[in-house]
Amino acid sequence: MKKITIIIPAYNEEATIYKLYARLSNVVNQIKYYEFEILFINDGSKDKTREMLKELRNKDNRVSYLNFSRNFGKEVAMIAGMDYSTGDAVVFMDADLQDPPELIPELIKYWEEGYDDVYARRRSRKGETFLKKFTSKMYYKVLQSLTRVEIQKDTGDFRLLDRRCINALKRMRESQRCSKSMFSWIGYKKKEVLFDRDPRIAGTTKWNYKKLMDLAIDGITSFTTSPLRLSTYLSIPTFMMLFVYLVYVIAKCLTYDVPLQAFQALILICLFFFGTIILLIGIIGEYLGRIFNETKNRPLYFVDDYNGERETNDEKAKKIQEI
Ligand code: UDP
Ligand code: MG
Repeated sequence: MKKITIIIPAYNEEATIYKLYARLSNVVNQIKYYEFEILFINDGSKDKTREMLKELRNKDNRVSYLNFSRNFGKEVAMIAGMDYSTGDAVVFMDADLQDPPELIPELIKYWEEGYDDVYARRRSRKGETFLKKFTSKMYYKVLQSLTRVEIQKDTGDFRLLDRRCINALKRMRESQRCSKSMFSWIGYKKKEVLFDRDPRIAGTTKWNYKKLMDLAIDGITSFTTSPLRLSTYLSIPTFMMLFVYLVYVIAKCLTYDVPLQAFQALILICLFFFGTIILLIGIIGEYLGRIFNETKNRPLYFVDDYNGERETNDEKAKKIQEI
């Protein structure tokens, strides 16, 4: 019997845990022929979340939980969930029931059809402000424009991943994590499922604009080094200005037979040195970007199949890469 692990990061979710468990177990009980593991990652909650999870575990041995020593953030909770998961597939869900558990059978259906990453795309987002929707849309646009890797639109972390995707993600141990872009980066066969995102059932969102801004900046800077190129690109117009002005000054001096004036010389010198400095910063940025990518120590590639044989991306694949 195949096993599916449902990973739920929870931070101060005492208002939602029982409701979530009730609805989730209801769905899971109806799915036959699969074994389930419901793995909560208690991300350093300061409320009753911890006790509630313990109680659920006593009642239902499909429930497991992992208590963090403090709040490490959702991204870290997710990788910890992957490390502790034992299923053949993993489903990521939020604790606030914004991701309807009723969608899980459909995710499983596509997994059985051979898809590795069945992600839920929001058809609508209820209970969220216009500003949040707008900023999130702009963010996707910016992120996508900075990279060759295809990023899924209107998609959160709610998805089912095959074990080999989990093995792949587990090998990306960087500390500044952005799961959204990692899901895209690893590749594999993806399938989209549409759903309506409900408002949070209880409690309050753990995000505020400062946190979201941090997340956005982390997302961009951990995923791409393009911003480092900015300096290199800026040096080009500076040098062009220098060239145009130089030609203009020389032409003027020659045609009117006047000597070079002090302010003209100053402008020329400024443009030259500004351009040079910006270019040098750009060069440093290029090297910094390379160092950054190397320090992430990511695997270079993941294999889909070898001679038609499905690669599970386990220890064997790891050894091949290390040789
Ligand atoms: N979460 C977490 N650690 C944090 C912040 C959030 O584990 O530091 C969890 C939270 O309990 C929830 C999920 O991440 O299960 C999404 O959080 P939330 O619903 O507050 O975010 P939103 O849906 O508003 O983006
Ligand atoms: Mg939420």
